[in-house]
Amino acid sequence: MSELFPSHRIQVLLPLPLSGVLDYLCSDDLIVKEGDFVTVPLPGRQLQGVVWNTDVEKSNVPVEKLKHVIGKSDLPALPISLMKFVQWVAHYTLSPLGSVLKMALSVPKMFDKPKKKTLYSLAKNLPQKMTASRQRVVDAAISDMPLSIKDWGNLAAVSDGVIRGMIKAGMFKSCQVFGEKSFIDPDIEMQRATLSQQQFEASQHIINRQKEDAYKCILLEGITGSGKTEVYFEAIAQALSHQDAQVLVLVPEIALTAQWLDRFRERFGTAPVIWHSQMSPAQRRRAWWATIRGEARVIVGARSALFLPLKNLKLLIVDEEHSQTFKQDEGVMYNGRDMAVVRAMQADCPVVLASATPSLETLINAESGKYDWLYLGERHGPAQLPHMSSVDLRLHKLKAGSWISEPLCLALKENYARGEQSLLYLNRRGYAPLTLCRTCGHRMECPHCSAWLVAHHKFNRLECHHCGFNRKRPEKCPNCDDHDSLVECGPGVERVAEEIQTIFPDARLAVMSSDEISSPASLKLMIDAIEKHQVDFIIGTQIVTKGYHFPMLTLVGVVDADLGMSGADPRAAERTWQQLEQVAGRAGRAEHAGHVIFQTYQPDHPVLQALISGDKDQFLEREVAARETQNLPPFGKLASLILSGPDKNKVINVAKQLSKLAPRHNDITVLGPVPAPLSYLRGNYRYRFLVKAKLSINIQNEIRKWLDKIASNRGVRIQIDIDPYSFY
Ligand code: ADP
Ligand code: ZN
Repeated sequence: MSELFPSHRIQVLLPLPLSGVLDYLCSDDLIVKEGDFVTVPLPGRQLQGVVWNTDVEKSNVPVEKLKHVIGKSDLPALPISLMKFVQWVAHYTLSPLGSVLKMALSVPKMFDKPKKKTLYSLAKNLPQKMTASRQRVVDAAISDMPLSIKDWGNLAAVSDGVIRGMIKAGMFKSCQVFGEKSFIDPDIEMQRATLSQQQFEASQHIINRQKEDAYKCILLEGITGSGKTEVYFEAIAQALSHQDAQVLVLVPEIALTAQWLDRFRERFGTAPVIWHSQMSPAQRRRAWWATIRGEARVIVGARSALFLPLKNLKLLIVDEEHSQTFKQDEGVMYNGRDMAVVRAMQADCPVVLASATPSLETLINAESGKYDWLYLGERHGPAQLPHMSSVDLRLHKLKAGSWISEPLCLALKENYARGEQSLLYLNRRGYAPLTLCRTCGHRMECPHCSAWLVAHHKFNRLECHHCGFNRKRPEKCPNCDDHDSLVECGPGVERVAEEIQTIFPDARLAVMSSDEISSPASLKLMIDAIEKHQVDFIIGTQIVTKGYHFPMLTLVGVVDADLGMSGADPRAAERTWQQLEQVAGRAGRAEHAGHVIFQTYQPDHPVLQALISGDKDQFLEREVAARETQNLPPFGKLASLILSGPDKNKVINVAKQLSKLAPRHNDITVLGPVPAPLSYLRGNYRYRFLVKAKLSINIQNEIRKWLDKIASNRGVRIQIDIDPYSFY
């Protein structure tokens, strides 16, 4: 490199699982600042990283050993607020700094400047009649984001020829991207809703906070259908009136929010920039570039969108803040909801947590005054909250092979006769959770996990829902070879659908589970069919609880309200309540009144009592009290350690070593090791520790010190989960 110029020392963070930065020399003619992207040499290769520190005072590496920075990219620098955030997340989750940076740079070929190319978006005036395949393309359009011919073909599952034909016929408008802008700015005046007094006041509150240009967390609680989305749309509009302002909206599963995107487009005249894991590499790169260049004004994404390089974040919204899908349980284990609060803090902007069923953590923070608390208590327009009741399955016994009790069946018949839609909710994919042999008692289990194989009739396979292992459904028992001896136990959505079809042979059914919905396009088709009332019965897993609005849906039957109530999870009751309240909230969202029926063996359970009486406060108070006595979050700190490995003895040995060295004093308790409930997963044996600590304890430091003490743990993986949400 340029030996002619003197050099200075800088530190570079690479997107590799390293806990710290590396020192390099940078010749003085190459001007770099913190956040700049640089290329540096590593043994045998070159890699791009981020300048983390230009002011290196002390370092242990002698200068003779240092290599030179190779060059600087002309990408805009990583925003300082994102660098701070990366640092914070790494520290909090006890993850290598470089691994967290990697999440912020998870864009394939991000350093190659995208080539200029032609993209297409649908024209405004499309002919009424068109061929089936062209119609498919139109139906598949989920946003105004212009796409390449190939992406359009993939999205609609048609050949490129179809798209080219449509371009010729003038059904697409084209645009050139890069260097120009590739996203259209939202039009904040496009279609303002007339807000109710309550909605108006809530939106004003957020807007006033937004004007303060400072961090504040705001809980926007509102019953299902009360217009929380309309309220925060107003706040988004206000934020966007500032030049260059950027807004981030986190949603639980972006692929599942076609309805949300439609509403956004109606309100703002264009689609937001989308960010989620199922996007193609090219789409990711475009969204990332548009974000770092400040062209992306509103980004809606899954939790990983928190790591986008937003330079000018002015408002952050977490919709359905209670949702567990914000928690990442692999790699860097973080809770997107909690990290959103941190991100807003570092960007000095307000964050809105919206939900009809806020998490206890959030409620407690609102009660104590730490968060602002907005409440919408009425549904919009004439819609009323649905009427809820339970069917006691001890009195109304289910017939063998049947999962619909008589009272529920009667209600379904009446609703069908009225021409209204019904939803049956069961949070279990497939046909049956267990297949066993009547002759020898053999159970069909996964060879790689301590779990049963779930029967799927749609694919004629048995599948492990933990590792994905699957095999053809056997005709005879693989253990005793007996024919016709295998029986399927318990229901999944497929089986409930089968029963409904038997009761209503002419009815039109839609099964909504991740097995039926493989892409955003197929989901959109299903949603459209339901909205157009081409469906009488929807049978769905928890996917249906995600904020959908179907005006003709008036009856919800919960097939098994007891599911998920037990287990080691301290949040089991809270979560069940949230799910059932959300699924109940799908009923009666327009002028027709809604009814919800819970089938249960424990009608006196506090969760069901809370739902039916509509008095959730008592239930929540009890849950809060229980958390407090047990020192559970947010009254105490919690972390899990999960040890796993293919050699059971090695795992046990490391567990024993750790157990001996565990921190022991009054303010910290280490429980375990115990075999995990899922004690064998993907060929690995698993053991768990649970660490409980008082709020005053720095749990990260304690765990770090503890793990540093063990001699060796080769062949055993140790995962640290701070604030765990899963306990299997
Ligand atoms: P939530 O998010 O609280 O469940 P939504 O924002 O989805 O509620 O609102 C429920 C329905 O009521 C939606 O169809 C929405 O368009 C409609 N709605 C709510 N508020 C208004 C309003 N002020 N003007 C017109 N429609 C509204
Ligand atoms: Zn498995």
